[in-house]
Parts: sequence; C-alpha cells; structure tokens
Amino acid sequence: MSTKRVSYAFCEEVGNFHYGSFHPMKPHRLAVTHHLVMSYGLHKKMKIFRPYKASALDMCRFHDTEYIKFLQNTVPNSVSIHDQRQFNLGDDCPIFDGLFDFCALCTGASLEGAQKLNQNLCDICINWSGGFHHAKKYGPSGFCYVNDIVIAILELLKYHPRVLYVDIDIHHGDGVQEAFYTTDRVMTLSFHKYGENFFPLSGSMYEIGIDSGRYYSINVPLKEGIDDQNYIHIFKSVMTYAMEFYRPTAIVLQCGADSIAGDRLGLFQLTLKGHGECVKFVKELNIPTLVLGGGGYTLRNVARCWTYETSLLVDEEIPNKIPMNIYMEFFKPDYLLHPNNEHFRKIDNANSKHYIEAIIQHTYDTLKMCQHSPAVQMFDIPANVLIDEKDRSEEPNLDIRINQHDYDNLVEKNNEFYDDEKESDDKKN
Ligand SMILES: [Zn+2]
Repeated sequence: MSTKRVSYAFCEEVGNFHYGSFHPMKPHRLAVTHHLVMSYGLHKKMKIFRPYKASALDMCRFHDTEYIKFLQNTVPNSVSIHDQRQFNLGDDCPIFDGLFDFCALCTGASLEGAQKLNQNLCDICINWSGGFHHAKKYGPSGFCYVNDIVIAILELLKYHPRVLYVDIDIHHGDGVQEAFYTTDRVMTLSFHKYGENFFPLSGSMYEIGIDSGRYYSINVPLKEGIDDQNYIHIFKSVMTYAMEFYRPTAIVLQCGADSIAGDRLGLFQLTLKGHGECVKFVKELNIPTLVLGGGGYTLRNVARCWTYETSLLVDEEIPNKIPMNIYMEFFKPDYLLHPNNEHFRKIDNANSKHYIEAIIQHTYDTLKMCQHSPAVQMFDIPANVLIDEKDRSEEPNLDIRINQHDYDNLVEKNNEFYDDEKESDDKKN
C-alpha cells in the first residue's frame, strides 16, 4: 500500500479554550494530542497547515444567521438566562471566553481541509479539532456549537457528486444526519450507542431518510459494552455494503474517541487498536478523506487514540513506549501508548451475536435500495472563498532561511533517516 499525501491542521491557540472547570469537554486534549504526535515525529510525515479561521458568513452556509450573530456578539455573564435559553445555550453548551473564536478555528480547519481535498492537494486531511456532529441549524447541542462537518461536506459537494459521512463516536451523529436527511448527495452512516435514554436519543435503525434522501441515512444502533471483535465485524460489513451500493467519491470520517474503553462518558469497550482498525479500513479504500475528531472525555486516552490514528494514516509504526514530551505526566503510570485495559471499568457486552447479525442484515436491506447511486449533474462550481494559505502567512523573516509555511510543508520521505531538514533546502516539495 503506497503512502498517502496527508495534510494536518494545527493551531496552538485552539487548545487554550475552556468550557469551564467541571465541563467534560476539554479543548486542552488537542494540545496534548499535538505534542504526542510531535514527540513521535509524525509531523515530519505530513504537511502541517495553520488553519483558516471561518467567518460568520462561512458558518451561515448551514446555520441560521440570528444564531450565528448571537454567538459572535455574546460574552460570558452578559446574557440573560432567557436569551441563553432562546438558543439552547447554558448547561451542556455554556457561553465561555472566546467561544466564537474557538468555533471559527475548528470550523475553518475542516473547511480548509475540504478545499485541500477538492483541489487534490492531499489524499487525506486530518483536523482533530473538528467533528462537532450534534450542532443544529438553529442552535448548539451536546457540547457542539457550529457544525464544521456539515460546512465541510457542503464544500466537498461543490466537486463531489456523492459524499459518505462515517461516524464512530459513541453518540449518534444527529446534526449531520438531520442536515442531509432529504438528499441522496450525502449518505450518513453512524455507529453509536442507542437506547436507555442515551444522548441524543435518536439514531434507531428505522431512521433511513425521507424524500430523495430515503435509504441514504444509515444507523447502526449498538448496546453497551461492545468489544473490538464485534465492532470491527459490524463496521467492516456495513462499510463494505455502503461502498458497493453508494460508491462515494469522498469520505468524511468522524473519529470521536468516546467509544474507547475507559471514557468518562462512554460505555463501549473498544481498544485503540479496535477503533484504529476502522480508521485504517477507511484509509485503505483509497478515496479522498477528511478525518475529524469529535467526542472523547478521558483526556489521556483521546490523545493516545488520535496520535495512534495519525500514525496509521501516515503509515508509520510507532513504539508503545511514549517518548519524552512536556505532557508526560498525563500518561502515568505506565507511559504506554496502548494503555492496559485492566484499569478500566469493565462493562459486559450486551450485543448478542444474533442482534449484531440482524443489524447487519437490516443495513444491507436498506443499502441495496440505493444501489443505483445518484449520478448528479454538476453545475458551475462556485469560486473558492478562502485566501490561499501562503498568502495568509505573516511577513517573511529574512533572518530565517526557511519560513514556517515551507517548514510545515516539508514531508520526510520514508528513506530519510536524519532529522535535520532545516539545513537541507533541496528537500522542499
Ligand atoms: Zn460523543
């Protein structure tokens, strides 16, 4: 398998936002993930880009203008409870310092990732700061304010007749499903825990889309405690049918890490290897793919999961022993990439063999209804609205032989064993 051209969004600032001390969503997990990626040297295998910051106008490609205006102008403690409730803010979705900027960075990275794929600048684009699958047109939901996924998919649809959205977060990808429920241009496929009032309550196997979108929403509702073996079996079976019957030209993969065992909010028993096997499976389909983050509430395991998955996407085997980095204390006591699952709360697998096979059969029956996948007539493609990344760079510093943009774009070849790219100008590509 040849190595893919991988781009990776990173912005230092995005790890500095706080939802609040007791809130389970910690943007700091993005800083820890990035340092772990760097400490394994994986940044040398990808083109790193400082993401575009999405504007209110970009967000309004999907969201209601009044809601985005409210997000843009709101500051903590300045809004009445009544006004917060109007847009479903507060509690799960608090107003915190820099909220709009946080959304702009996460969304901009997904949007720019979609553009890079459209322009064939890479085969895979990773944005661990994206994946806010619950956000709705008129308001936030489940820690998600702006649905970067929907906005990125809308961008992909400028060039791609059919986009497959795949969601392996433990929660149902309801915001994305809702956005594309009536169209056959996007198939949404979500694997999630369903039942017993588990958030967001939706995602039964009978939600299959309506009108032109009938048979293009696929839901795989699972019960608690599912393990690697069963999850991988169901994932690969359903994905194989989806590829065969829908034939997508681009994929968006939401890699929520709350489906990993030991998650603060999750109830599945997947290991990093099981979760990663799904990412690897999608990578090997050889279709342009936007890889996004999502949920994940045990910080150290989120960083482990997304670092391991970055290594799979760049085809680099990395050792289990975590290299020295500034966040070393997070990985106590064993300092291993693949933590010992014996420390985690054990949850028995409530999914019987019979149940799993019945779900697979049901998705097959639904998917075969769309085997004549839509051949969309493409119209004039709207102009790209983002300023080219190079043109956004700061003033060149003449004391530095290679600027940050070019440095980030250096990709180490697999047969390069030395570490000194800065001294070697002829390696630019
Ligand atoms: Zn989740």
